[in-house]
Amino acid sequence: MLPIANDFWPGRPALLEGESFSSWFARVAAANGLRPAELYRILQPGGDRNPRDLDRYSDIHLLGMMSERTGMSAAALEQSTFARWVGMAFERDDGLVKLDWLPPAGREKAKRCFGQQLCPLCLAEDAVPYLRLEWRLSFITVCPKHQRLLLDRCPACNEPFSVLRQDRHGGIFCWSCGADARGFVGDAPPVDPVPVQDDLLNTLSQGWRGLGSYGPVYSFTALRILAIITRLIAGGRHAYALREWIANREPRFALPPENLPRVRDGALLTSRARSVLVGMAHYLLEDWPHRFVAASQYVGMSSRDVRKRVDGAYPFAYADAVEWNLTEPLIGSTRDEVLAAKEVLRKRGHSATYQKLKDLRGGKSRTMGELADPASEGAAWGQGRYWKLDGVSAEVKEAARLAAHRSGESVAVWLDRLVRKELNMPSTRVF
Ligand SMILES: [Zn+2]
Ligand SMILES: [Zn+2]
Repeated sequence: MLPIANDFWPGRPALLEGESFSSWFARVAAANGLRPAELYRILQPGGDRNPRDLDRYSDIHLLGMMSERTGMSAAALEQSTFARWVGMAFERDDGLVKLDWLPPAGREKAKRCFGQQLCPLCLAEDAVPYLRLEWRLSFITVCPKHQRLLLDRCPACNEPFSVLRQDRHGGIFCWSCGADARGFVGDAPPVDPVPVQDDLLNTLSQGWRGLGSYGPVYSFTALRILAIITRLIAGGRHAYALREWIANREPRFALPPENLPRVRDGALLTSRARSVLVGMAHYLLEDWPHRFVAASQYVGMSSRDVRKRVDGAYPFAYADAVEWNLTEPLIGSTRDEVLAAKEVLRKRGHSATYQKLKDLRGGKSRTMGELADPASEGAAWGQGRYWKLDGVSAEVKEAARLAAHRSGESVAVWLDRLVRKELNMPSTRVF
């Protein structure tokens, strides 16, 4: 039911095709003679002086109020925020984690954040200049229509763009120096990133992607792996060696190094640097994991190198590829050798767990993984090697951990037993 007309604000611009919520919010404010910050304080009395990044932090309450006062559907408004990409670009958003491909915009506390990109040429063509939500995705670095790098900061004063802080009406302006964004032009990109962008946008919209020998995975899994690799190429210890390995195989990536400073925090990279790094990471994602493994081995990366400095759990398709290919050198274990090692352990009174076999043989192999005994019943719960089944909900994982804990088993042992029972398999592992 539509609210009665009296509830409407006088200025009610329609949300435009692909427009971001913050862009629309700023236009609604302007249409009612307000600055975005003033409108925000009317809606959230006692809120911060400057609104946070509303593309990410608009809650149902705020969207509902905006819907009531403008007549725009709350669902359409929600689609103009990052909520549109839940389960696609990221698994979920608790408001605290760093989203791999959606860096913050404006200022977070005192830190300048360059998450708002824009194409000044698009703005110049718009009847009403507005920001596209897709410009927030940091793997998008070039406007496909104008073939120019997006701007992620004001070329006049280097401040990040922040539409919610701007005072001027009727366009997109630098909030700091007041420059009209339409007066700028993005540079030509050092490589053509559009095919990679299109592929990633396609991944995002279909929600999954084929990942080499791992088959189809969720789009957020593929994008997470892409982010991890991008970080390795951007600023890891082996960054330059990896870039060189790639450039030797893909001449389009053989670029003067000034295009690519080495930076640890991907969010600080310019669109110019990202256009190259994302393309390189995308190249390593192809034929997963063989190309990535070949590059990692060539430059001498160990599993430690490819795992550190990344927070949170690793997607299985990444952890597994790293585990089996990059840790210590693989030892050539035949079935007989592993069985002999198990026998040695038994005689010493140990169960032949994977860890014990690994310690004994000074390395590891897939055969060992297959032949190892399950971790002992007394093993600490929830500390198995893997508990990273992509797509299994957090509630189920947590419930399984607790159930395993209650029965005094590790999750792996508990799950093994449960699945065997469900499938009418013998109740202990048979080798
Ligand atoms: Zn454009
Ligand atoms: Zn400026």
